[in-house]
Amino acid sequence: MDDCLFCKMVAGEIPCDKVFESDKVLGFKDIYPQARTHLLFIHKEHTSNVNQMSGEQIATIFEAIKTHTEEGLVEAGFRIVTNFGSNAGQTVFHTHFHVLGGEKLSSFGS
Ligand code: AMP
Ligand code: ZN
Repeated sequence: MDDCLFCKMVAGEIPCDKVFESDKVLGFKDIYPQARTHLLFIHKEHTSNVNQMSGEQIATIFEAIKTHTEEGLVEAGFRIVTNFGSNAGQTVFHTHFHVLGGEKLSSFGS
């Protein structure tokens, strides 16, 4: 999609610090990390929020997160978050899943 930051990363027009890539999914480091490890996982096909995604697309992203976290984060623990809409704090409108971990996280919502 034109004018979408994350689509531009998928296209290689904007650099990102990749941690995972398959034909369908891209995982990269968040530029403003909120935890020792803070990654973003996106499906390469543009959707604006999780309700626009098919079950297959969601499953594909979670499989990628599962594969990636098995290489290090499982022991430390991690949290998966997706913000839906500006009231929830969504600022980039290409659906993404935050993976936060690598340390003790604050209680959820506090
Ligand atoms: P959200 O607020 O849930 O929409 O999350 C968007 C996330 O994208 C934020 O955590 C930002 O720090 C992150 N972000 C914005 N620009 C970039 C970038 N160029 N590279 C990596 N992460 C980014
Ligand atoms: Zn996009």
